[in-house]
Amino acid sequence: MSDLVLVHLYPDLLRTYGDRGNVLTLVRRAEWRGFVVRLEEITRGERLPPDARMIVLGGGTDRVQDLIGADLLARRDELTEATGAGAVIIGICGGYQLIGHRYVTAEGTEVEGLGLLDLETVAAPRAKRIIGRVRARAAIWGRSFELVGFENHGGRTTLGPGAHPLARVPRGQGNNGRDRTEGAILGSVVGTYLHGPVLPVNPKLADLLLARALAPRTGGAPLEALDDRLEAAAHREARSLKR
Ligand code: GLN
Repeated sequence: MSDLVLVHLYPDLLRTYGDRGNVLTLVRRAEWRGFVVRLEEITRGERLPPDARMIVLGGGTDRVQDLIGADLLARRDELTEATGAGAVIIGICGGYQLIGHRYVTAEGTEVEGLGLLDLETVAAPRAKRIIGRVRARAAIWGRSFELVGFENHGGRTTLGPGAHPLARVPRGQGNNGRDRTEGAILGSVVGTYLHGPVLPVNPKLADLLLARALAPRTGGAPLEALDDRLEAAAHREARSLKR
């Protein structure tokens, strides 16, 4: 019997910049607290476990996003139902774009998204990619803290009125380079452009996601604190990098 069923969706395709590190961070931080985690790696054509409480989608190239588009769309009802029942979804970069309404690639191909977040993304053919280190101020579920990471995307994301920004960034970074927003959140669905991977160096974000996914087990009680000296040092290091 497991306390948490964690799904890594398309681990063979959505995996730029070490996104698997996000999954490992979630698994370890739960296990260090004594929870039993069942990790399921699900790719195209495979069924999602019905008891999934957390789903991770990593980043990927335009080509890969196009490749998984139809398979992801076939899961729309299931994923909408899962999040309605409180399952947490975290999408990173390419995965983040695909949980919005649509992504138009640099070549002009339109990939329909899950529509779980009210946003859309367009990669204008000649626009510069948004690339670089990011320091952001996150606001999620009543908590505010610093996020650090690395972004590299051609797509510009515009949030609709139904999505809240996950964080604030300096102009030139984040969702579109214009409005100083980074990522998005609605209920238990969270998206971010931050790679690196993002969760090992941002344990506060990892723990908030975990606490929410584990709520049926814990009754919503806060998670026990861990010795995060190493993670804090990694966070400082990531923050100090210029390129
Ligand atoms: N292909 C998408 C873009 O360029 C996402 C990139 C990524 O996941 N790093 O915007």
